[in-house]
This record gives sequence, C-alpha cells and structure tokens, in this order.
Amino acid sequence: MSRVFNFSAGPAVLPEAVLKEAQEEMMDYRGCGMSVMEMSHRSKMFEEIIEAAEADLRKLMNIPDNYRVLFLQGGASLQFAMIPMNLMKNRVADYIVTGQWAKKAWQEAQKYGQANKIASSEDKTFSYIPDCSDLPISPDADYVYICENNTIYGTKYKKLPNTKGKLLVADVSSCFLSEPVNVSDYGIIYGGVQKNVGPAGMVIAIVREDLITDDVLSCTPTMMKYKTHADAGSMYNTPNCYCIYMCGKVFKWIQSMGGLEGMKAHNEKKAAILYDFLDQSQMFHGTVVKEDRSLMNVPFVTGDKELDARFVKAAEEAGFLNLKGHRTVGGMRASIYNAMPIEGVQKLVEFMRAFEKEN
Ligand SMILES: *Cc1c(COP(=O)(O)O)cnc(C)c1O
Repeated sequence: MSRVFNFSAGPAVLPEAVLKEAQEEMMDYRGCGMSVMEMSHRSKMFEEIIEAAEADLRKLMNIPDNYRVLFLQGGASLQFAMIPMNLMKNRVADYIVTGQWAKKAWQEAQKYGQANKIASSEDKTFSYIPDCSDLPISPDADYVYICENNTIYGTKYKKLPNTKGKLLVADVSSCFLSEPVNVSDYGIIYGGVQKNVGPAGMVIAIVREDLITDDVLSCTPTMMKYKTHADAGSMYNTPNCYCIYMCGKVFKWIQSMGGLEGMKAHNEKKAAILYDFLDQSQMFHGTVVKEDRSLMNVPFVTGDKELDARFVKAAEEAGFLNLKGHRTVGGMRASIYNAMPIEGVQKLVEFMRAFEKEN
C-alpha cells in the first residue's frame, strides 16, 4: 500500500485511522455478518450508528438543545435553494458575496425572492473579506447569508458580520469542525461533508428549532422542507447511511485529537508552516490578504503560468497530489484540511524550497 499526500479541495483526505477502521469492519460490521452499506436504515444496528454520530457531533460543537442536527442529501448546493424556501417569509434576504459558492447561493435565492448583494469582494478576485461591521442590512431581511470559508479563494471570516439583529446563515463546508464555533451565533450553520468530515454526498445542517416550521414557500417540495427531515430524525427516506457511519468515525477521531480546540491548534501549526514559507519565498506568493487567510485552503502562485504548471507536474511526480489551483484563479492551491498530517505540509514546503533553488 502506498498513500500520497492529497491536497485536494474536495472530496478530500480522510484520517488514515478512520479508513483502517472502516476497512476492518467492511465485510462484517461488529458481528452482524454484513457491511454497513448492506443493512437496513431502520435496523437497530444503524439506529445506533446515527444516534452516536449525532450525539458525538453535539458534544464536539457544543450544540445547544434548541438546535436540530439534520443529515441531508443533495450536497451543500441543494441548501442554496432549501434555505430561501424555508426561511424567506418576507421574500427578502441579504447576501455577502465573497466567492463562487456565495455567488451561487445568492443567484439561486433570486428565484425565490429579493436577494440583495449587500457586500462583495469580487473587485479584487475575492482575495479579501469585506468590512462587515456596518452593512446596509435590509430592514425586512429574513436572514443574512455568508460563506464562512471560501474554498476556491482561500479567505475566511475572522469575525462574523454584524447582522444588526437579523438571522445569520452560514455555509461552513470547507471549515467544518476545523476550530471551535459558537452555534448560537447562527440560525443555520451547514456544510457539505466531503471537505473536512467524510465522503461526498451529504450535508449536515444545524438548524435552530424555531426555524423548522410548515410555514415555507408554497412551491417547496416535501423533500426540501427542513421539517420533513427533522420530524423523521433524518430518515424520512433512506439516508446516506455509509456517509453517516464514516462521519461518525471522523467525529470520534476529532475527539481523540483534543476536540475542536485541539483541531484548531493542529490546523494553525500546519497553516503557519506553509504561510511562513510563502512570506519569505522569492518564487511563490500567497494570493490573499494576510488578515483573511484561511487555515484550510491556501492558494499561491509564482506569477508565471508556465512555471506554475511545471511545479504542479513536478509535485505530482514527487507524491504531492491535487495542487492545481481552481480554474478561475490559476496557480496552485493546497487544501490542508483536518486530516492532512503536519508531515504532509512540512514535506511540501521542503519540496517547494528545493524547487525554488533549482528553478
Ligand atoms: C464544495 C463546496 C460547496 C458545494 O458542495 P456540494 O456538496 O458539491 O454541493 C458549497 N460551498 C462550499 C463552501 C464548498 O466548499
């Protein structure tokens, strides 16, 4: 067996300990003679899996009792529609556009009501987070929407926007469980799990209880009502059972790493190794303003497209995979999620230093 260092933005690296455990349980899950993929979602065995997953997530994030945890399908992208359908009572919402994912969410919301773009960082290729201390929040806005960590551009809110009392809704797909959060600051906090938590195909939405009602836009399909899933314990229909099982293992792994405090310390240490190198390199440069740098996604360039391409190719040959930047930014991007070991970042920096010397 040989494993590479995988810097993919998503689906992304998972903890080896978790993969090994899943491998051991693949053919015969704890003596029941079948794999988790083969068992009924209504079975006692699976019930224990989903209940433990939710309980462990609640403990990790310190989720208050008045929030529901929903394991939903359709990825993060389906939430772009589900959020306005469930929350737009006045048919008005405010969006802060800090990247492609926020922009997609904003565009989708326009189908259901008046979605205002109240701030944007598109003028500088989304390389910073706008000042959100005194935004023109609409008096009748049903919520204010942000994408908290911008996967493609590598920026992260270090301070949540001042929503002037309005509900905050946040997409945390690429910073999920990377550091402690205060769930009470949000009406909905949600993330696709394939960046930092598990395999692709599921989103975890943590929704304040009073927002889960039958009072939704009349066009809302049954499957897109939060209440449908909340009432059925995320099992209105067959859930993504195997993904829930894998996420549950990752929750236990994070617990063993010292919980979210431990994860944050580990992530800060890792990111500092890469950013410190970028800050002194003559060849490689970070593309984001320092104050808004993400701990998870680190885009960088040489300034020369040909040299970028040569670097990506050489890195791949040396066992550092998926370093090519997003097609809209170019250059490189190293995604260094929770499961990326410190050693992976140290070795990448050693490789970059050697590449710089030789070129
Ligand atoms: C990847 C990503 C998405 C899209 O996730 P899907 O599960 O593919 O729909 C949305 N938001 C952010 C911040 C992402 O990183």
